[in-house]
Amino acid sequence: MTTPSTTTEMSAAAVAEAAAQARAAADKLAHTTLAERFAAVKAISAYVLEHKEDIADAVCRETRKTRTDALVSEVMGVLDNFEWLLHRAPKILADQKVPTPIALLGKKSRIYHQPLGVVLVISPWNYPLHIGITSIVAAFVCGNAVLFKPSEVTPLQGLFERIFAAAPLLAQSVFVCYGGGETAQRLIDTQPAKIFFTGSARTGKRILAQAAEKLIPVDLELGGKDAAIVFDSADLDRAVAGVMWGALTNAGQSCSSLERIYVQAGVYDEFVRRLSAAVNGLVLNYGDSGDADIGGITAAFQMNIIRRHVADARAKGATQHTGGDVLAASEHIFQPTVLTNLHENMLLMQEETFGPLLPVLKFDTEEEAVALANHSEFGLAASVWGGDKAQLERVTRRLVCGAVSVNNAMITEGNPNLPFGGTKASGHGRQKGAEGLLGYTRSKAVLYDGNSGKIEANWYPYTQKKYHLFANLIDTLFGKSGIARLLGLIKTGTALEGEAKKPRG
Ligand code: NAD
Repeated sequence: MTTPSTTTEMSAAAVAEAAAQARAAADKLAHTTLAERFAAVKAISAYVLEHKEDIADAVCRETRKTRTDALVSEVMGVLDNFEWLLHRAPKILADQKVPTPIALLGKKSRIYHQPLGVVLVISPWNYPLHIGITSIVAAFVCGNAVLFKPSEVTPLQGLFERIFAAAPLLAQSVFVCYGGGETAQRLIDTQPAKIFFTGSARTGKRILAQAAEKLIPVDLELGGKDAAIVFDSADLDRAVAGVMWGALTNAGQSCSSLERIYVQAGVYDEFVRRLSAAVNGLVLNYGDSGDADIGGITAAFQMNIIRRHVADARAKGATQHTGGDVLAASEHIFQPTVLTNLHENMLLMQEETFGPLLPVLKFDTEEEAVALANHSEFGLAASVWGGDKAQLERVTRRLVCGAVSVNNAMITEGNPNLPFGGTKASGHGRQKGAEGLLGYTRSKAVLYDGNSGKIEANWYPYTQKKYHLFANLIDTLFGKSGIARLLGLIKTGTALEGEAKKPRG
């Protein structure tokens, strides 16, 4: 097992060269068909399928994920996304016919979804393949060239290039730019058409500030402090197993990890007892062959945050039921830690932890649960558990966040038809789903009219007669209905047409 690699920053000249090549690639891509771009996606999809074990190896080496976490979230999730694009993109990206109102009779209205040009994708270290490649391939399918900056913590040096080599058009359209924050800032300076950033809120603010100077649009997928709400009516076996997985998958290093677990008073004690027992039964290891539950922490700085959050909570009176520190056998594994007796003034209730902690809090009423869950600067996702359907729907609608999994955890991310993204300090913009895909395009509104000698009534000259007819038209359009509206429109419309060609005087 090697330690995560780091890379040096790209020089300004090297970044400028990559951006120039990306612009040339974007010009070429604009002349390709969706079918040609799809052939490239099919080729890399076949490559990923064939090399899934090698890819899982590469991801595990750099992240210390368990093998199952790497295979399911990085390989399966990526293939699922490619398949969705191949099935759904043709319809979503097709030219759209839209109705033309009666006042514009005889004209045709269309929306074209066109490429943006060169887009910049900046990704984090927690899902280093999935987040990078799903964004890159969605951008490419829409006809964009991509400047891609992987995280310096998990650059997966050479892996993206190997995958893209299976499809020359993709290889010629994507430019992997290794480096850290400086490289990313230089890339922003090259004025990409749009930035797709996934990472921390801290970096998101810096990117937004830099992009504002150049008026570059930015989609921000940032951190979270997701809440789970478990009502008395929940099936406890399922809720305990689901909440535990939602908090601990990828060793808690997921943007939508459950980081605040609110449990109703009637089942609270039993929930904590069962959760603690289940957590104690988990297998902790990495470099495994598919039989470990919880892997390692990828970055040393992240380990420090987790330790600080636990120490702070304990110092302020928290009760620790399991774990609490790194595993004696490995400095890279933090033991899953169930904590109770928590207060709002503790760091782990305020900041994103990004580690295997399970802070459990008690609530009495539905109203209280909603207020507690919404009391966070973040708003990425949430998870609600119970047996009362009306209550689940009520609560789901009231949660201020981008996704809710009902009687499940992080499951909306498993359906590529659903958009993914947050609100408040969790960012804005959406990935995935039709909404996410259209984010990689610029919609162009087009109205086709005929090449006749006809002069429009609203063109010059403006005359008093036309003015009164327009006033009449407004009354008819917005004040009448049914047959009276139709007859009124024909009458006023014909009169206006008649006036259109008359000179002033
Ligand atoms: P980070 O913000 O430290 O780094 C993310 C990327 O930004 C890296 O590639 C980094 O090199 C780059 N970067 C650093 N400084 C920059 C600057 N000044 N300008 C431009 N880019 C710069 O985040 P991280 O630690 O790699 O990732 C963890 C964070 O990502 C967590 O907060 C997590 O919640 C979040 N995340 C969010 C989602 C989501 O979809 N909402 C998904 C995964 C991770």
